[in-house]
Amino acid sequence: MSLAAAVRLPHSQSMSSTPRALVAGAGIAGLTAAKVLHELGWEVDLVERQAASGAVPTGLFIPANGMRAFAALGAAEVLLSCGRVIERLRMQSSDGTAAGAADLAQV
Ligand SMILES: Cc1cc2nc3c(=O)[nH]c(=O)nc-3n(C[C@H](O)[C@H](O)[C@H](O)COP(=O)(O)OP(=O)(O)OC[C@H]3O[C@@H](n4cnc5c(N)ncnc54)[C@H](O)[C@@H]3O)c2cc1C
Repeated sequence: MSLAAAVRLPHSQSMSSTPRALVAGAGIAGLTAAKVLHELGWEVDLVERQAASGAVPTGLFIPANGMRAFAALGAAEVLLSCGRVIERLRMQSSDGTAAGAADLAQV
């Protein structure tokens, strides 16, 4: 296996008493797992097989449960500073027929 990128998040404790983890994948799940384990005192190696992100430069919708998770990680403020709160969601079928709506301000 060739690894395109690898990051080590060392912890300050001695090697012998520090639990270690290898996290495969630098998507949102891997980055979150690496951050949380590091904050819990683990030494973390994070590897990613792609040399560059395959993400298309477009909008990203973060639902309320995702924002709560980001808040727990201390990242909500920076996201809010570069994004916009969506208060109302309207769904429609491909022919434009209304399929539903949700008041996200209440979620
Ligand atoms: C077009 C599109 C639009 C989307 N829009 C939204 C949105 O607006 N809001 C939203 O909440 N979600 C959205 N999603 C869903 C969201 O992208 C996924 O739910 C999320 O990316 C899943 O995160 P993940 O970390 O589990 O997986 P991934 O993002 O797929 O990350 C996995 C990473 O692991 C790497 N990897 C895999 N195997 C290995 C290995 N063996 N060794 C090393 N690295 C490895 C991969 O290269 C990849 O980078 C969208 C998805 C798509 C396709």
